[in-house]
Amino acid sequence: MTRTLIAGNWKMNGLVGSLTEIERVAAAVAPSQTGPEILLCLPATLIHPAAAKAEGSALKIGGETCHPKEKGAHTGDISAEMLKDAGATYVIVGHSERRADHGETDAVVASQASAALRAGITPIICVGETLAQRDAGDVLNVISEQIAGSIPSEGAADTIVVAYEPVWAIGTGRVANSEQIAEVHGFIRELLTKQFGEAGRGTRILYGGSMNPGNAEEILGVAEVNGGLIGGASLKADDFLAIYRLA
Ligand code: 13P
Repeated sequence: MTRTLIAGNWKMNGLVGSLTEIERVAAAVAPSQTGPEILLCLPATLIHPAAAKAEGSALKIGGETCHPKEKGAHTGDISAEMLKDAGATYVIVGHSERRADHGETDAVVASQASAALRAGITPIICVGETLAQRDAGDVLNVISEQIAGSIPSEGAADTIVVAYEPVWAIGTGRVANSEQIAEVHGFIRELLTKQFGEAGRGTRILYGGSMNPGNAEEILGVAEVNGGLIGGASLKADDFLAIYRLA
């Protein structure tokens, strides 16, 4: 049975003082092999201290992006190996904010996901259409192109996670409705089973975009939704834990 994943994405938020929120999440989640998995993807500066706070709890820590290479002359960048060394077990790749702010293409995203696999951490590969693409009736084409281009050839059904994040629903308070989510998640599932065969049924597909404690139950109940990728509502321990408890 697929294990639900509740993942937070702090984006460019959080100072050392915010570790108290992480401590509160960790204190509330006893280690368990069953039930949903819980993860916070954090700015690089917080990964190592957060991993120390999370030790002995069920809370896992992840990064928000990584460089394709292991090391070298890439000022300001962070490798997947560095994230792992700091205590991360997951990394988000291909978030629409990275695609927009840093011009990351599907090929770049695939090489970052590949780097995560090389380092032994799990890539959460993000896809999602813009409002203009949705209005143009292009959603499934965009998703299929992004999935085909962003999953690295060595990716396997159980070593990657996919996140569907409609760009227009991110940070806007505008949530995709259940039919929209079901359509895209069902379509991604078809693509994954084409690529991986039956094993593709086990790949987790997360929904992201204005999820909060008020709408999480409905979203998590939609077919082929195996968890959430939560931005704003993951910054406060109470909100994030409330979503986790609904999963
Ligand atoms: P919000 O939950 O703030 O809309 O952000 C979603 C997101 O981008 C998670 O990666």
